[in-house]
Amino acid sequence: MSPDNDHILVTCGLPYVNGPCHLGHLRTYVPADMYVRGLRKMGKSILFVCGSDSHGTPIVVNAEAQGITPKALVTKYHRHFDDVFKSTGVEFDYFGDTDNPSNHERTQEIVRALMEGGYIYPLEIELAYCPACERFLPDRYVEGICPYCAKPARGDECDQGCGRHLEPGEIREAMCKICGGKADYRKQIHYFFRLSVFKDFLLSYLATLGGTSSARNYSLEWVKQELKDWCITRNMSWGVQFPGQNGLVVYVWVDAPIGYISFTEEWCAQNNIDWRVYWKDKARIIHFIGGDIVYHHCIFWPAMLKGANYSLPNDVVASGMLKIDDKKFSKSRGYVIWVKDDYLDKGLHPDLLRYYLASYTSHTKEVNFAWNLFADKVNSELVGAFGNFLNRALTFATRNFDGRIPQGNIDPEVNEKIEATLEEVILSLQEYEFKRAVDSVMTLADYGNTYFQAYEPWKLIKNNKQMAGSVLRSCLQIAKALVILMNPVMPTKMEEAWKQLGMEGTARDASFKDVLLPVLEGQQLGKPEILFSRMEEATVKDLDKIFQNRIKQAEAREKGLKVDSTELIPLISSSDLISE
Ligand SMILES: [Zn+2]
Ligand SMILES: [Zn+2]
Repeated sequence: MSPDNDHILVTCGLPYVNGPCHLGHLRTYVPADMYVRGLRKMGKSILFVCGSDSHGTPIVVNAEAQGITPKALVTKYHRHFDDVFKSTGVEFDYFGDTDNPSNHERTQEIVRALMEGGYIYPLEIELAYCPACERFLPDRYVEGICPYCAKPARGDECDQGCGRHLEPGEIREAMCKICGGKADYRKQIHYFFRLSVFKDFLLSYLATLGGTSSARNYSLEWVKQELKDWCITRNMSWGVQFPGQNGLVVYVWVDAPIGYISFTEEWCAQNNIDWRVYWKDKARIIHFIGGDIVYHHCIFWPAMLKGANYSLPNDVVASGMLKIDDKKFSKSRGYVIWVKDDYLDKGLHPDLLRYYLASYTSHTKEVNFAWNLFADKVNSELVGAFGNFLNRALTFATRNFDGRIPQGNIDPEVNEKIEATLEEVILSLQEYEFKRAVDSVMTLADYGNTYFQAYEPWKLIKNNKQMAGSVLRSCLQIAKALVILMNPVMPTKMEEAWKQLGMEGTARDASFKDVLLPVLEGQQLGKPEILFSRMEEATVKDLDKIFQNRIKQAEAREKGLKVDSTELIPLISSSDLISE
C-alpha cells in the first residue's frame, strides 16, 4: 500500500517529563518543526503531534524523593515543555500526555488485541524483591551488577558498562534503591510480548523503511542478531493498568509510543476527523526521534502495530546526539544547557538557536554546542551575511527610491539562482538533510551580497538610475526568496523581515512557489531595521561562566560524595533528580 500524501502525520519523540527541557531535546524537535513548516510551504497537509511521556519508574522515584505525587511532577514538567515549545516556535498541532484517559484506553485496547492474537503470554520469572520494603523492585528501583559485563548497573539498563537494556530479573546482586538494603529474588507471573515471531516481518519492513539510513541499518543489525521477547509488565500502580491484573502496569515503552495514536485521536476528536485515517488507513507516518531510541521505534513499535493491526510508520528520522563544549552531554557532570534558564531567560532570541541546531551539521551527526561557536555563527552568518544583505538592499532602496520597490527588470540570472535554491531546499527537506537546506539558502544570501557589491548601485544611482533600479529590484527579489526559504528555520525573525519588505500577508502563509513571484514595482517598503545584532564578547563570557560554574559544582559534588562516605549510597543520584 503506497502512502497517501494527502494525510501526513509527523510526530516527535515524547519528552520524558521528569525534568526541564535541555538542548538535547531541541536537537530533535527543531528540525522536525522546520520539516513540518517546510512541507506546509509545499502545499502538504500535515498533522504534527507530540506529548509528555508521563509513566515509568524514574518519574515515580523522583516524585517520591521530592515528596510529591507522580501526577504533580508530570503536570509541572508537562507545562514546562509546552511553554518551552511555544517559546521556541516548535508548534505542535497537539501536545498531549500519555496519562490522559484516551491513552489508557488505547493502550488497553492494543494490549487486548495483542493478547487475542496470541502475541502476549504469561511467564513466571524471578524478580528483585526488597524484604524490608515488602515490594518488588521494577527498573530504577533496583541497582546491582550487569549480568553481561559485571559493571554496576541500574535495573533497566547497564548505564555504566556495556549499555545494554536489561530485562526484569536480569540484574545480579540487587540492592533496593528505596532503603539501600539487599534485595532477594522472588517468583511472580509477568507478561511477555512475543517479539521473536516478528523477525521475518521486521526484516522485510525495515528493508523498505524510509527516514535516515542510520535508523534503518542499526535496527536491521539488531533484528538479524537476536530478538528476545519483551517483558511488558511492571509491579507498580503509576501507569496504564495491564488488563485484568491489579498491581501490574504495562511497561512505559508500551504506552509511550501509543501516545502517538491517542494524541492523534484527541486532535481528531476536536476537529471532527476520523483518526483512523491516520492509523488504520494509508496515511504517511513520520517519526522524528533521538538516535538513542531507535530500537524502540524501529523494532518494538512496528511489531506491536503489526500485531494489533494498525498502520506502520513510513519513515523514522533519527537525529545525532548533542555534545556540549565538545564533551559528551551529561546532566550529572554539568555538561548541559537548559533551554529556559540558560537561554530564553537570558533574553536570547529562539530563532538564533533554531538556526544553530538546524545548520551546525547534518541531522544524523553529532551537534557540538559551545557559546563561542554559537556567537561565531550568529555574528558571521546571520549578522555578517544574511542580515547584512537584507539590510543593505532595503536601506538602499528606501533611501534612493522613495521607500518603494524600484522600477526595473529582474535579472534572469537572479531568477535562475532562486529557482535552483528552491529546488535544493525542497530536495534537502525531502531527504531530511536540514543543514544542506539551510546552507543552500545561505549560499543565496552570499550571492545577494556579491551581486550588490559587483553592480555598485551606489555609483549607478548617480549616472544610470534605471540600471540601479533593476539591480535593486533584483536584490529585493532575492531578499523575498531568502525570507520565505528561511521562514521554516527562523519563523519569528522572518516575519519581521517580511514586514520590512512591505509584503502582503505573512511569511508563514507564503508558499515556496512564491519565491518566484516578482516583487511589485512601486510597492511600498517597510522600515528597514537591523534584524540580527552582534553577540558581544562580554555576553558570551557571561553565558559561558554560568556553564563553567555548573561543571565545577558537579565536579565538587562528585568529589564530595566520594570523600564523605563510600558506604552510604545516596537514594537518588543527582542525575535521577533531573533525569530524562
Ligand atoms: Zn553491562
Ligand atoms: Zn527496600
